[in-house]
Amino acid sequence: MFIDSHIHLEGEYTREWIDKFMEMGRKKEIEKFYITEHIHLFREFKEIPSIIVKKFGENEDTLFMKNWWRKNSQKKLDSYVQFIEDLKKEGYPVKLGMEVDWLEEDSNNLIWEIIRKYPWDILIGSVHWIKGWGFDHLDRFFTWKKRDVYKVYKDYFYLIKEAIRSKMFDVIGHFDVIKIFGVYPEKDWQSLAREAIELMSKTRIALEVNTAGLRKPVREIYPREEFLNLFKDKKVPLTLSSDAHRPEDVGYKFNEVLKILKEKGYKKLITFCKRRYYTINIF
Ligand SMILES: [Zn+2]
Ligand SMILES: [Zn+2]
Repeated sequence: MFIDSHIHLEGEYTREWIDKFMEMGRKKEIEKFYITEHIHLFREFKEIPSIIVKKFGENEDTLFMKNWWRKNSQKKLDSYVQFIEDLKKEGYPVKLGMEVDWLEEDSNNLIWEIIRKYPWDILIGSVHWIKGWGFDHLDRFFTWKKRDVYKVYKDYFYLIKEAIRSKMFDVIGHFDVIKIFGVYPEKDWQSLAREAIELMSKTRIALEVNTAGLRKPVREIYPREEFLNLFKDKKVPLTLSSDAHRPEDVGYKFNEVLKILKEKGYKKLITFCKRRYYTINIF
């Protein structure tokens, strides 16, 4: 039996919808479902892009962020939390989580003011935006053109390191998602990742092995296997997640990934309940 520690309902809070995730998950032996919505779905965070635009000015990227985020932030945070808490009371095997963007300093403070009021089981810290540039939008690959790819990786891992240092999160989400399109710098970028791994080993924070990368142009897990060896050496605990945005992706390729983890000598995974971690033996 497995636990999927990172699932999105994408704002649809109905029994019919979550039952589909359960049904698909059970076929893949998932016994616990961590629902971890994005903050950009909620009205409470709708002013975040304004802070980013103010800081970095209006440009094609920041204006896209502003419009895209505003369009998405329609839900009420209270109704999401209530929906999951009600399901728990009825015995649904669900946990309450959030995937929280790590952005620039002033906006992170505002995000935290809101986040800290709710009874989370898990908080995932992720970087999806660099100075207001949404680098992982599949239909916006053109925005990568004319960028200094090494600088992009440097800025990305700088934010990841800040997220680790903030101590706000239980898990770092999709550690090397910056590779999403399979575009890599010519210069050595692995050392940037290694610095982040080193920092994680000194902080009580977990890493997720996220299978969403297998569904993206890069076609590999986050983090890449080579980094998994390093994480193992540094004894950073792992969660396992599909980052599913639709029912059919729950538990996506968990069997394959568990095989890799086993080969690397991993014997346990962890996950969280009320933000305290617990261990799960995998073999
Ligand atoms: Zn994400
Ligand atoms: Zn996600």
